[in-house]
Amino acid sequence: MTKKFTNYQDSFFIITILFFILGMIHISFSILGFLCFITPFVLFGIYKDKIWCKYYCPRAGFFMRFLSKISLKKKLPKVLKTEGFKRGVVIYFIINLFFVTMSTIMVSLGKVAPMGEIRFMILFTMPFDLPQLLNISLPNGIIHLGYRMYSIMFSSTIVGLILGILYAPRTWCTICPVQTLTTVKKK
Ligand code: SF4
Repeated sequence: MTKKFTNYQDSFFIITILFFILGMIHISFSILGFLCFITPFVLFGIYKDKIWCKYYCPRAGFFMRFLSKISLKKKLPKVLKTEGFKRGVVIYFIINLFFVTMSTIMVSLGKVAPMGEIRFMILFTMPFDLPQLLNISLPNGIIHLGYRMYSIMFSSTIVGLILGILYAPRTWCTICPVQTLTTVKKK
């Protein structure tokens, strides 16, 4: 019998907001963002279906909740639908995760200083600091990893918001690495 899932996406939009707020309380909470990277693939591995995308994804819920009424619904450029572009986004994320891993190891070994700012698309430092309302001291590697994860989520959310405002609320899903990597091509 096929397992039935309840669709929580509409209410899980709050998790996206909570993620960004928690990062302002203490950057180490941002490491929880890894759950959004891992869970879709675990569910896909178990059920051979995009369970995360269909029923749970907080990001999809967030875009639907806030962009449905204001999206300009312009025609989606063909380039965004091409395999090449989607694969490019996957490669970008793989490179990003490689940087995250290597730099966190180097910071933990004391070879380089931890990152202490939010960056957009790996390179561009944002002109604001995150408030850190909780004053706790943690290893540099954790702080660095937190800022890296926050930066990834921040960058992809901004890109997703821009795409969602221009085209359709969930346009990000078209190029999301989860979508690309869990789409099984029919032969
Ligand atoms: S494609 Fe990405 S953003 Fe869209 S529902 Fe799936 S995981 Fe969420």
